[in-house]
This record gives sequence, C-alpha cells and structure tokens, in this order.
Amino acid sequence: MDYVVIADAYERIEGTTKRLEMTDYLVDLLKNTPKEVISRVVYLTQGKLYPDFEGIEMGVAEKLAIKALTRASGSSESIIQKELQKSGDIGKTAEQQLAKRKQSTFFSKKLTVEHVYETLDKLAKTSGSGTVDLKMALLSGLLTDASPKEAKWLIRTVTGNLRLGIADMTVLDALAIAYGGGKETREKIERAYNISSDLGRVANVVADLGIEGIEKFQVMVFEPIRPMLAERLGAPEEILEKFGGKCIAEYKYDGERVQAHKTGNKVKLFSRRLENISNQYPDAVNLIREQLDAKEAIFEAECVAVDLETGDMRPFQELMHRRRKYGVEAAITQYPISLFSFDLLYVDGEDLTKQPLPQRRKRLQTIIKLNDRLKPATQKTVNNPRDLEDFFEEAIEEGCEGLICKSISKDSVYQAGNRGWLWIKYKRDYKSEMTDTVDLVVVGAFHGRGKRVGTYGALLLATYNPEDDTFETVTKCGTGFTDANLAKLYETLQRHIVPRKNSRVKSTLEADVWFEPYMVLEILGAEVTLSPIHMTAMDAIRKGSGLAIRFPRFTGNYRTDKSPQDATNSKEVLGMYNAQLKKIGETLF
Ligand code: ATP
Repeated sequence: MDYVVIADAYERIEGTTKRLEMTDYLVDLLKNTPKEVISRVVYLTQGKLYPDFEGIEMGVAEKLAIKALTRASGSSESIIQKELQKSGDIGKTAEQQLAKRKQSTFFSKKLTVEHVYETLDKLAKTSGSGTVDLKMALLSGLLTDASPKEAKWLIRTVTGNLRLGIADMTVLDALAIAYGGGKETREKIERAYNISSDLGRVANVVADLGIEGIEKFQVMVFEPIRPMLAERLGAPEEILEKFGGKCIAEYKYDGERVQAHKTGNKVKLFSRRLENISNQYPDAVNLIREQLDAKEAIFEAECVAVDLETGDMRPFQELMHRRRKYGVEAAITQYPISLFSFDLLYVDGEDLTKQPLPQRRKRLQTIIKLNDRLKPATQKTVNNPRDLEDFFEEAIEEGCEGLICKSISKDSVYQAGNRGWLWIKYKRDYKSEMTDTVDLVVVGAFHGRGKRVGTYGALLLATYNPEDDTFETVTKCGTGFTDANLAKLYETLQRHIVPRKNSRVKSTLEADVWFEPYMVLEILGAEVTLSPIHMTAMDAIRKGSGLAIRFPRFTGNYRTDKSPQDATNSKEVLGMYNAQLKKIGETLF
C-alpha cells in the first residue's frame, strides 16, 4: 500500500472539524487498505506502532527530527530552525523544506506503508550506544524518499505531533461502517476492543472475518481488559434502592489498581491506565506466581501498602514510594505491599467476563491459595442501610477509602471499559483530621507475627472516660515501635497482665492479652473516624458507633508522667472529631 494514500486521507481529516466527516474519510481509508496491513494503518492513524499497553514509543525528539530534515532536504539547520520558529509546526516546516529541495528524486523510491512501518518500528526499538545516529539515519532515509506532503505526516508522526483527533471511538465507528456491515454493529466491535485494548487486532479480525469474527473475539492473556468502573452515590439507602434492596459491599482499598495476567510462570501487571507496571512490583509478581492455582488467569486486585508485622494497611502515600524505576529492591522491603483481589476475568481458557459477579467471585476463591499477602477483598452481603453503614465505618477504620457496592443480580457481568450502576462507590464527604497527639492507655495486646514473634504485634489503646471512670478502646496500634521499644514494652507490660478484661475497660475486641490500665503512650493518628468497633464516645455522633483513631503511630514518647486517669479523655476525642470535621471538596472524587 502506498504511503501517499494515508497522507492524502490525513490531509482530508485535518481539513475538517466535523466528527462525521472525519469518520467518513477514515472509512474510505480503511476500505482502501489491504487486510494484511489494516492493523498497522490503524495504529499509524493514532500516531502509534502498537497498542499502548506494549509501551513502545517512537521517541524522536524535535532536535533529532531537525537534523534528519537537514540531511534529507539539504537546507541548513539554522534555516530550518528559523522556519520552525515562524510556523511553530515541524510538519509544515518539513513540507516546505522538502519542496525546495533540488531535483534529487532520481534515486528515491516510492514509500509504502509496509516500509514506513518497518522503518519506524526499527527506529522505536533501537537502544544502546549509537542510538541517536541510527535513528537519524533511518529517519533521514525515509524523508529522502518522501514527497513534501508525506514528509509532513512522517515528521508529525515520529515527533508525536499527529494531532488528527482520531479517538478510539472514531476508529470503532469507522470499522463498523467499513467492515462490520453498518453503524449498528459498533457495540459488538467496541466490546472486542474493551476486552483486548488493541484496536489493531480488532481491525484485523473485523476486516478479515466480519462481524462473525468479532462475535467470537476472545479475551487473551497479556492483552489488558479495559477496567470496569463504578458510579457514585452518597447514601446507603440510595445504594440499596439501586440494587433492589440487596448487594454485596466490598472494602474499597486505598492503593493502586492492578490487572494481573498469568501464563505458567510468566506474570504481567497492568495499571488502571493499562501500562505495564510489572517492574514496579516484583514482589506482587512473585506472589501471583506462587499463590495462584491456575495455569492461565486474568484477575484484578488492589495493591496496598501494608505493615508486615501487624498486617495493618498503610496510607496510600506510602505506596507512592513504590513509583520508581531505580532502587526498587530497597523500596520492596521498606514499603511492602499486599494484594486484595476483587475480580476474576479469565481462567484456564474460560472467559468469565459475561458471568455474574457471584460466580466470578466463587471461582476467584478457588484459585487463590490463601496467604497473608494475597487475599480476596473483604466483602459482606447487605440488605439494610444500617449494616451497610456499619461495614463502611469498619472499612474506613481498617484503612480503606470506603466501600464499593456491587450488584449480585444475574446480569452482574464485568462491564469492561464502562462506568455503570453495577458497581457503586461509597466514599466519605467529610474527614476529621488530627493535628494533635493523644495520650492513650494500654489495655490489651495482640501477639506479634513475623519479626515480632515473641513480643506484641499491636497494642489495644483506650481513652479515659471520667464520667463513669472507664477506659474506652479507641484504636489498635502496631506502628512506630522500634525493636528496643518492643522489648521494653513486653518486659514492662508483663507485670501488668490480668487474666481477663478489667471491668473498667470497655472493648468489643478480644485482645490476646489484657492489662490493668497502667501505661500511657503518646500516639499520633491521621484522623478521628466513626467506628462500629471502638467504644470511645459511643453513640455520641451516631447510634451504635464510637470513635476511632485511624493510622495510629507511637511517637516514641512514654508518658510516664501521666497516670491512666490523666490520659486523653473520650470527650476530648469527640471534640477533635467535631472541631476538625472538614468537608472534602468535590475535586477529591
Ligand atoms: P474511577 O476509577 O472510578 O474512574 P478513581 O480513579 O477516582 O475513579 P475511585 O473513585 O477511587 O477511583 O474508585 C475506583 C477504584 O477503586 C478502582 O479503580 C480500584 O482501583 C479501587 N478499588 C479498591 N477496592 C476495590 C474493590 N473492592 N472493587 C473494585 N475496585 C476497587
């Protein structure tokens, strides 16, 4: 296929602002494209060589393009620079300069799409020493053979300035008209795209096999499925109403969405934007390799920063330290992660995207070999607003962002690439930030795991309530302790162990060890939240809920100067909650 066919189509597309006309021109181009090259033409019209998830970019800087143009046109670099400054468009500059070129086309060949694509492919894949020279030779070679018009589009393509405005959806429309049999087939073609994220493969199939081929289009491991997204509502009643009174509520983990693809030992992770992020999370890759009982699978999980000693989730900010190219190994130990899986889309040859959620979830549970680091998302079936609200508070307190409520009807398929009412997110529109530390009484402890075996993993902490002289639990804290702290705490607290919960302690949690109220520690938390578990200021804000401190951390300060009755009292925590209640702007959603 001659490259000029593409260049002409681009000229026409550039000349219109109307989407319908643009689609018509694209339809003409696709009809004039031989089937063997249709995928390449589709990628090129979007300024790409491969689908985005392959992560291959042409990466030609303007500077290099100017040099190649200098060589191909015979004009000096300074003239080209000057022209470029005037036009502000490197494509136009290339066109003008090549039009001025002395008649040297005697040796030039006609450019074909195949040749252009292969050359650009080489250009994109060169690396190592001599890269710049090689890229420059490849590009100037193409420009030498190009007509001025072709040069304009080539240069725009390689420098990432195509800007034709051909969106994925326009290509899908054009494919439906050109090969699907009409616009009405667009939905089916779009589904193929949503489960493959590869417009080239979709174009290939529809051009070759028509709509029947598209109907048989399959999910493939290592081709990311475009993510299903959630709508949002602000009240449990509204959510339940949408689902006809019953749904499952799942923790909405505060981490990074990961779509994992596995075949045998090979594992790839894709981000929410479908970029390959496997290199960022080698630990997650290993977990999946070891803990997934399936030859082939595609599943989705939230990757969350955790404290390995306590199993507690850590704030999203800690996960941000994992966004790096270098020093990954060190970051793995410093900021460990766990995966909480919430969907299974494909397993051993079977596409599950059309199955209802309860079935997908059942399958998911059968293939995960349970482990602290890879677990199915915590969920609960709810049918009344009270239970939903309680579960929501529990999720927040555990370190989650809220809940994702999901339909369990027979139509609860995985809607790839769509935001719909089958999933509804329920987040808070308020936040009570803590600016001050609190002094809390140690009333219980939980045995440690991992490095903390033999000491305490987390302490159960309480506020003091002077009204009835009780200690009301407010948080469980396992963070901020050094090894020396832990050893000292263990030794000191031994002397204060009591066989059962002290009658002055109010707790719904069952600690492994109980203490008489004695030791006071200084704690810094991220915020005060409502809690169905903790007892501080129970019922003060909402019936059946107390207050809790989220993401608590020991400051290192033992308040030996304070008796347990001098600890922060329940009313003060209530005051903090009320005083610091902040509306989160809409922008945060
Ligand atoms: P969206 O992804 O809906 O465009 P967003 O990027 O702002 O919006 P959120 O509003 O925070 O994200 O909500 C959706 C995200 O929640 C998902 O993309 C996923 O990463 C995350 N998530 C956490 N837990 C779950 C879960 N149990 N089920 C589905 N998604 C979950």
